[in-house]
Amino acid sequence: MADTLIEVNCITKDYEMGSAGVFKALKGISLKVEKGEFVAIMGASGSGKSTLLHILGCLDTPTSGSYHLEGVPVHTLSPDSLAEVRNSKIGFVFQSFYLLPRANALENVELPLIYAKIPPSVRKRRAMEAISFLGLQDHINHLPNQLSGGQRQQIAIARALVNNPSLIMADEPTGNLDSVTSQRIMELLKQLNDFGNTLILVTHEPDIAAYAKRLIKIKDGLIISDEIMKRG
Ligand code: ADP
Ligand code: MG
Repeated sequence: MADTLIEVNCITKDYEMGSAGVFKALKGISLKVEKGEFVAIMGASGSGKSTLLHILGCLDTPTSGSYHLEGVPVHTLSPDSLAEVRNSKIGFVFQSFYLLPRANALENVELPLIYAKIPPSVRKRRAMEAISFLGLQDHINHLPNQLSGGQRQQIAIARALVNNPSLIMADEPTGNLDSVTSQRIMELLKQLNDFGNTLILVTHEPDIAAYAKRLIKIKDGLIISDEIMKRG
């Protein structure tokens, strides 16, 4: 189907625990995500959220089962090919921002375009556009430690957006922010979704998950509910 972005069929993930045997972190997850969706994944600590996000984000591969991303069978790819898919199709926003400390805001946003081998002049222009979209054009020369937490996360969002990815993944994006700043960041993510970006968000906070349009709950490596949310 033309508009299916993610199609996951019965994926499992086993972690080898040495003499303790095997730990089954995912026990058979099936899931379809269409382009333009905004999905929140919730579950208790240890339920497998990050494991699932890492597989969906092409940072890791499942032990069994299949994963097609825009029709590409990513579960069959070599680590190098997987990295290529990741760099061209996926933008990440993490709880701890992960900005390069010695690179200024503009250089941090340019990073995915460097990986994608985009020429420098185009790179600068596109990074500037992403930063301006977030209203941070006066801060392009600032190092991460010269920015507030909210501004750092906005720069990380600009970085996630800059190569126009098919999918934006956010793992507890407001986990290190105060509640007012958290709301600003979530409004921003919601706005990206309104513009057509597909978002997958992992959180354990119900009021953060409430910004999404669909809520998937997982427990002990299995999906226990998957529902479209009503917007108030
Ligand atoms: P969540 O993000 O929901 O807190 P995770 O996906 O990080 O959960 O972890 C799910 C389970 O898998 C946990 O019990 C965790 O201890 C285990 N786990 C995660 N990564 C590894 C690993 N690399 N090796 C062994 N066990 C792991
Ligand atoms: Mg986690």
